[in-house]
Parts: sequence; structure tokens; C-alpha cells
Amino acid sequence: MEEVELVIIGAGPTGLFATFCAGLRAVKSVTLEGLETYGGQMHELYPEKKVYDVQGVPKVISYELAKKMYEQAAMFNPKIVFNSDVTDIIPTEGNRFILEVNGEQAYTARAILICAGVGYFTPNKLNVEGEATYADKGVYYTVKSIADFKDASVLIVGGGDSAFDYALQIEPVVKNVIIAQHNGVLKAAESSVVAAKNKPKIRVMLNTEIKEIVGDGKKVIKADAFDNVSKTNDRLDVDSVIVTIGHKANPDIFKSITFESVNGRYIKVDTNYKTNVDGIYAAGDIANVSNEPKFALLAVGGAEAYVAINNIKKYLSPRASLTGGHSSNLEL
Ligand SMILES: Cc1cc2nc3c(=O)[nH]c(=O)nc-3n(C[C@H](O)[C@H](O)[C@H](O)COP(=O)(O)OP(=O)(O)OC[C@H]3O[C@@H](n4cnc5c(N)ncnc54)[C@H](O)[C@@H]3O)c2cc1C
Repeated sequence: MEEVELVIIGAGPTGLFATFCAGLRAVKSVTLEGLETYGGQMHELYPEKKVYDVQGVPKVISYELAKKMYEQAAMFNPKIVFNSDVTDIIPTEGNRFILEVNGEQAYTARAILICAGVGYFTPNKLNVEGEATYADKGVYYTVKSIADFKDASVLIVGGGDSAFDYALQIEPVVKNVIIAQHNGVLKAAESSVVAAKNKPKIRVMLNTEIKEIVGDGKKVIKADAFDNVSKTNDRLDVDSVIVTIGHKANPDIFKSITFESVNGRYIKVDTNYKTNVDGIYAAGDIANVSNEPKFALLAVGGAEAYVAINNIKKYLSPRASLTGGHSSNLEL
């Protein structure tokens, strides 16, 4: 078994920045990612979207930013290993942990930083007839490539940021888009809702439940909708359905350890990003310090990673300074 000071779980944006920060603080780390590449949600859920709210980067395509993050993470030549699903963390003697990877004990570490985000992106399903039959044949849970929706009539189910973001993203190439939302409450950013309402190709249908996805055996041709206010049914002629009704998250991912959680949704951490287990820290979308809603954002995950790594440094080397120096003092 390989011995390291720190294992970082996840090579999403938070894990990548944590990897860089570990290098800055000369902590010997290995970063383990279950998927075959880096970027987490940026790569899996919105690779072609533009991101505007990262400090100092006015506008950037998501996968380009993920590439830059990886480049930064690699600056101190850390070990970043893909296809490495951390399946368990087993506490062992001498305040160490054994990391089980793909079912086999692979590393021992003195500290662990969990940056597992929303896990393996298990999207919530509508659970209606036709959904499973036409999965990837007209039913999707994300927009991997805008070109896939060229000239299509698209139904987007959901009323949150993802629904409106995807609608605005594909609008230039599609024939039309319907956003169907079930309870009349739009959770998306006001600016996106206004932008969508100003696009003639986008129609928002409130209080609309999708009851069935209908196809011709090969592809989607319609969706059955029910207006739960007027109590009327409608058949929507669509050839693609994008379901954006959230993801399943499970902070209880390691069987040998029980983390305190926030609402069963996040791993609870203190303001140093330490969990209830000494030596184990968590940051990014998987972690929350309180019952308040989480700001699940790239910049927030990065800041949390920074604080976590510096506290980990202090945990590993109690005589080290907590804050470290400024990177601008370095010549790299
Ligand atoms: C459609 C959409 C648009 C968004 N737009 C923006 C935006 O414009 N600006 C912004 O700031 N934020 C945006 N976000 C949010 C942002 O992407 C997240 O806050 C960010 O990805 C969180 O990073 P993370 O590293 O904490 O988690 P994730 O990105 O979820 O990465 C976690 C990584 O850990 C891996 N992993 C999980 N479990 C294990 C395990 N057991 N073993 C090994 N690896 C594991 C996963 O495979 C994944 O790669 C958007 C999100 C979505 C869905």
C-alpha cells in the first residue's frame, strides 16, 4: 500500500484547486478521481457553457476553465489518478486511514480532504413512462453538446438554473424550446428568466407536469403534459426532452465512517472545513458549515479548498504556520 500524507478525493474544481494548494504548502498528496478525466460538473454537466463569475476571468467556456484548473493543479507535479473510485475510508492505527480504491486497499494517509461534489452525478428521474425507453435516444439529463439539439423541438423539465441555462444555451440552434415547470415557482436567477422570456423561441409553461414521454420505438415524438391548475391535458410535439430536476446526493458514501451531515445532504464541517472525524476534511459542493443554503459555486469551492489545505498542513505539521505565504513570493 502506498503511504501518503494526504489523499484528496475528487478532481473536480475544488479537488483540483486543493491539489494545487497542497503543492504550495509542500504536502505530499495524491488526488483520486473516479471518472476518467478532471473537471467534475464542469466537464460532465456543462462543458460548453460560458462561466462569468470566477474572479479575474470575465468570460470563459467551462471546459477551457477546467483545463486551466488542471494545469494549475499539476504545477507541483502531484499524483492525480483517474478511474479511481474511493469506495471506503477505514480508520486504522496511528491516526491513519486506509483508502479503498475500486474495492481494493490502495493507500494509507494521515489526512483526507473529500471534494466529492455531488458524487457521480446521478440525476433525479421523472419516473414516467417512456423515460427509460428513450434514455439517450431523445431523453437527456444534461447538454453535452449544443450541436446535438440543432433544429430540434426541445422540452426542458424543471424551473431552476439548469433548465433556464440550458434553454438559453441551445436557443440559437433549436427550432423551439418549452420549459415545463410543475408548481409555478421558478428558482432560476431572475436575469435568466427575463432573458428566456425575451426569446421568441422559448416558451415557459408553469404548473405543468409531464406524465409520459411518447416515442415511435426509435425516438421521442411527443410528451404528455398535465396543467395542474386548469386540470387539462396537452400533447407537446417534441423530439428531445432534457430533465433537470436535481441530482441525488449522498454524503454517506464510505461504509466504515459515519459523517455528521447537514440535512442528510452535505457532510457537516466546521469553519476549518474539518469533519467530525479528526484528520478528515471536506470542501466544495459536498460540504456545508451550517443549515443555511450552500453557495455551490466554483469560487466558493476554491476558497474552501484553500482554507482546508492550510488547516490540514497545520494538522500534519503542528509547528507549521497556519496561513503559509503568498504565492506572489514564489518564482515558479
Ligand atoms: C449546469 C451547471 C452550471 C453551473 N454554472 C456555474 C457557474 O456559472 N459558476 C459557478 O461558479 N458554478 C457553476 N456551477 C456549479 C459548479 O460547477 C460547482 O459548484 C462545482 O463543480 C463544485 O465543484 P466540486 O469539485 O466541489 O464538485 P464536482 O464538480 O461535483 O466534482 C466532484 C468530483 O469528485 C468525483 N468523485 C465523487 N465521488 C468520488 C469518489 N468516491 N471517489 C473518487 N472521485 C469521486 C466526481 O467524479 C467529480 O469529478 C454550475 C453547475 C451546474 C450543474
